[in-house]
Amino acid sequence: MHLEILEALNQDLDQIFQQFYDQLLSNTDFDSYFKSPQQIEQLIKKQKAYFISSLRFSDDELRTRYIALGEMHYDLRLPFVDFSFALDILQEGTIHSIYKISHSQQTLRSAFTFFRLIRAFTAKGYLNRILAQDLKDIDQYLEKISVTRETHNAISAGRFIWLKSFIFAIQKENRSLAPSFLIESDILLNIESSLKENEPFMEYIHEMVARIRIDALNVFYFLEKKDYSDVLPLYRELMSIYKLSLMLTNVITISNTDVLLGNIDKDPLTKLLTRSSMNSLIKKEFAMADSQNYAISLMMIDLDHFKSINDTYGHLTGDKALIDVANIILKSIRATDFAFRIGGEEILLLLKAAPKSVAVKQAEDIRQDIQKHTLEYKGEQVKVTASIGVSTFSRPFNITVNEAIAHVDKLMYQAKKHGRNNVTSG
Ligand code: GH3
Ligand code: MG
Ligand code: MG
Repeated sequence: MHLEILEALNQDLDQIFQQFYDQLLSNTDFDSYFKSPQQIEQLIKKQKAYFISSLRFSDDELRTRYIALGEMHYDLRLPFVDFSFALDILQEGTIHSIYKISHSQQTLRSAFTFFRLIRAFTAKGYLNRILAQDLKDIDQYLEKISVTRETHNAISAGRFIWLKSFIFAIQKENRSLAPSFLIESDILLNIESSLKENEPFMEYIHEMVARIRIDALNVFYFLEKKDYSDVLPLYRELMSIYKLSLMLTNVITISNTDVLLGNIDKDPLTKLLTRSSMNSLIKKEFAMADSQNYAISLMMIDLDHFKSINDTYGHLTGDKALIDVANIILKSIRATDFAFRIGGEEILLLLKAAPKSVAVKQAEDIRQDIQKHTLEYKGEQVKVTASIGVSTFSRPFNITVNEAIAHVDKLMYQAKKHGRNNVTSG
């Protein structure tokens, strides 16, 4: 309780509140909040009563009441800085009056503590709402990416789940609930092994990880002091963590794939990857999917009666058809997927983090795109079609790479048996 403040202020209260509103209203930012002089008068009365009753509150009551006030500020979409600005004016008037009347250190200290507490609790309430909103946003995002094909990316989902538990720990003000601030060691190992020759990039990753850690430690430092003295720097640290974390995910994924692809043999005709790197790459991807717990789909594509295309229109037209099909496929897959030309007119796709429904839909899209495509041969229209086998693998990955490939190969042959130009999944 801070009743000594009330005693010290005594008759000055009216004057303090009048000054408070005069100053507030001289700030054009606040003008818009008030509709009429009567409304202002009403508000002065109410605020004054609230201020006086606050001085009678225990610290626990102050906490509950002002956290609710902070939450209300957020719900009304009022900036926290406005609250803080108004409080500055009130605090200045109060301290000034106390100083005029008595020089009691005790009363002054009590006044400083009182204002520090209500500012902190209001900040806490405001932060509560921001965190709740962020959690909701993440849940909605996770829900959406599980159904859309384009943005479906388990690595980014993993990162968001990390953020979610991080925000939860902040909400609970409990550092021990926070996930590791460091990037998961298996991911780091994977990056390190694929980026051996790219030192500056590794430094960049380590720098980002270090900054996430510093920002996270700062957030918990503020929280554990229970001195939520200023919500804005705290939130800035949070924003910075979100931003860095997402940038990190994208940079790692893209660069990892770029470096990998840059070092791998490509088929000169179609620019697809060759068979030589296939087994080791798929093995690596299976291991990663196992540790991160996401699904991988494989797709075997074989062109139908391709021999007769060569026989009828010549080998060059056949080559052109292969190039066109490869381009259709490359356009359909994501930067993190792989396409291997494993035989003359056989292509194997690895779709990262693609659940079965997504992979089957993608196979059907590819089949239709190939069917729609037309080549010209001496004024004649040449058409090709493809038979596709597709299957999805997930934890536990107790299947060898060769077995997995043999499985989609078998499905592709079933597609041939079913009359070609179709997709068979299993
Ligand atoms: P299906 O798969 O529908 O059973 O019939 P297919 O005629 O496609 O089957 P098969 O595997 O017997 O024939 C594949 C043909 O693909 C043989 C070969 O002439 C052709 N081929 C393989 N590589 C190339 C290439 O690089 N260029 C061209 N033009 N043709 C190729
Ligand atoms: Mg064929
Ligand atoms: Mg074939």
